[in-house]
Amino acid sequence: MTVLVLLGAPGAGKGTQAPALAARLGVPILASGDLLRTAVAEGTELGREANRYMSRGQLVPDETIVRVFLKRLDAPDALGGAILDGFPRTRIQAEALDRALAAAGRRVALAGYIDVPLEDLVTRMANRRICSANGHVYNLVSNPPAIVGICDLDGSKLEQRVDDEGATVRARMVEQVPPLLEVVDYYRSLGVLKTVDGREDIESVAGALVSAIQPGPA
Ligand code: AMP
Repeated sequence: MTVLVLLGAPGAGKGTQAPALAARLGVPILASGDLLRTAVAEGTELGREANRYMSRGQLVPDETIVRVFLKRLDAPDALGGAILDGFPRTRIQAEALDRALAAAGRRVALAGYIDVPLEDLVTRMANRRICSANGHVYNLVSNPPAIVGICDLDGSKLEQRVDDEGATVRARMVEQVPPLLEVVDYYRSLGVLKTVDGREDIESVAGALVSAIQPGPA
């Protein structure tokens, strides 16, 4: 049973790394941004509340995301473990997660921090494209699709996230990086932090994360 937290600033590559890790561990990916984007697309009350913050690059209030995310973590498919992508993003969320896991006799086995210099992140977000059907992640420069504008995996159209454009990118950095660094410190103090150099290519970053979960030869 492995609960793995993926940490990184917006654009660091969490959504790119999560599928390889999930396949390797045989556990689902729980991505807080995907949960919220689905709620926005469905026009639910949660979606309407979340969109007010997401469209400005701000974090959704802790109380809201903790409630929604912990409920998702409780679903049967996550009982054997999960990759957490995008949650926790504040220390309050990290502590709430620990309490919920402890109550179920579980804990975070590893927090993998994908460390990318801030100046690289803005360019990455400008070049990021997401598949409209399943959220598969591409980068026009470092990880382009075989056919321009089309997802290799499911043939759906690739789109740019609205919050990957212009001023929202900067707001996301200003709003989200300081609390992220607190979460990094929190997991460091618990002795479960593994920092990987996110400037390496996708396979090297995945390899570093996998070997941190399962030390020794594959
Ligand atoms: P992401 O796809 O992870 O970049 O998330 C997209 C947006 O959803 C973020 O910019 C936030 O507005 C919101 N969001 C996602 N996860 C969280 C979280 N754990 N706490 C607060 N807001 C979040």
